[in-house]
Amino acid sequence: MPATTMEQLVSLCKRRGFIFAGSDIYGGLQGTYDYGPLGVELKNNIKQAWWRANVYERDDMEGLDAAILMNRLVWKYSGHEETFVDPMVDCRQCQSRWRADHVKNGKCEKCGSTNLTEPRPFNMMFKTAVGPVADGDSFAYLRPETAQGIFVNFKNVVDATSRRLPFGIAQIGKAFRNEITPRNFVFRVREFEQMEIEYFVRPGEDEAWHARWVEDRLHWWTTLGLSRDNLKLYHVPADELAHYSKATVDIFYKYPIGWEEIEGIANRTDYDLGSHSRGQADLGLTAKVSPNTDSTAKLTIPDPETQKPIVPYVIEPSAGVDRGVLALLCEAYEEEIKPNGEKRTVLRLKPSIAPIKAAVVPLKRNAPEIVDACKSLKRALQSTGEMRVVYEDTGNIGKAYSRHDEVGTPYCLTVDFQTLEDKTVTVRDRDTMTQIRLPMDEAYDYIRKGITETFARE
Ligand code: ATP
Repeated sequence: MPATTMEQLVSLCKRRGFIFAGSDIYGGLQGTYDYGPLGVELKNNIKQAWWRANVYERDDMEGLDAAILMNRLVWKYSGHEETFVDPMVDCRQCQSRWRADHVKNGKCEKCGSTNLTEPRPFNMMFKTAVGPVADGDSFAYLRPETAQGIFVNFKNVVDATSRRLPFGIAQIGKAFRNEITPRNFVFRVREFEQMEIEYFVRPGEDEAWHARWVEDRLHWWTTLGLSRDNLKLYHVPADELAHYSKATVDIFYKYPIGWEEIEGIANRTDYDLGSHSRGQADLGLTAKVSPNTDSTAKLTIPDPETQKPIVPYVIEPSAGVDRGVLALLCEAYEEEIKPNGEKRTVLRLKPSIAPIKAAVVPLKRNAPEIVDACKSLKRALQSTGEMRVVYEDTGNIGKAYSRHDEVGTPYCLTVDFQTLEDKTVTVRDRDTMTQIRLPMDEAYDYIRKGITETFARE
């Protein structure tokens, strides 16, 4: 059974080094978290799996890594300066502030008062000064979504790659939102990571592509280990749509806090490329443009049939890395009773995303020949740089096994005196707890087979 409370996960994450509260030694900074030794591996594995499925295993995608700091005009013309707001209410009794649509029964969550102000818009973008002189105009925003980095590079990528419609640009990176009430561990934070695709299509073909991307993205989360029963689609009603969206379908995961969004797939139409084309025209950076009709529009691409320049429509699958980490930890977490009556906590992560792929354990940590054999086995296993393998001598063998069960390590390899004679090792499987004896030089292929995964959809 997956984790039933957030506390189980918070406790495991801190204890074993997945996730810590940000700036912890100074009392923290609300809405920030740091990924520890295991968290960084898990997060990297998720990002790599996403990159593989969406960039390497497709023929219609390019990658990008744009700057976090962008010209303020980007956010003016994208509409974020005006509309990237959440409704905020103040409690007149205790002065706390809440996101209006998160307030339950009209009551302040802190003191229970119903004496709340009317909602007013609060812009969630963080501002920072750029350059040594902080005059009124020298500020920039930290990006609240990675998407705009893709839109402003649309022409650069098309020119550099000669791409034709349909094609996409994929990016993974940090985003920042000054959330009114960050909460629920890494679910709602002020600094987080997004994995975003902007997929450019012919207007008119957008709805079919939208439906296809929803299916693709849902499927990908299941290949990573989320059960289909714990995922559902939410068709966002018109009055909840973001300012740029014609239609959005959210993928919800059943977290211990309830069904919540893990990814949103929006049909952004020609809103962004159109707005930036207009922005350039307003500023005299190009001739006056009118999206979809005017051949002088800068952010255009030839229509595949007519060859006339058009502003393409765009489908945007936008996933949160941190919400992905949380969902995968929830799903994998299990407390069970072993046949001998002992309790064990096991993280049944798919081996492909497990932070550590194998632990090499010495039967005796003070026997030099055994330690040497362990070290050379570890070197051999990680020689191709594909997997994180650790040397584990922090306790006895039983302790090593339970420690690695708890962090999801799929294999423990034990080196004993027999190893010195016949060059075989014991391989213990995390899920079944069964052990087999294997020649040392077959261990690499054995583990590699166990951790290999295909993420692409047929
Ligand atoms: P919510 O309604 O929960 O605030 P959203 O609809 O504003 O989310 P999007 O703008 O669609 O979110 O962002 C795309 C993805 O980025 C989300 O599906 C989520 O995984 C992630 N994300 C957004 N805001 C946060 C946050 N504050 N903390 C962690 N992840 C976030």
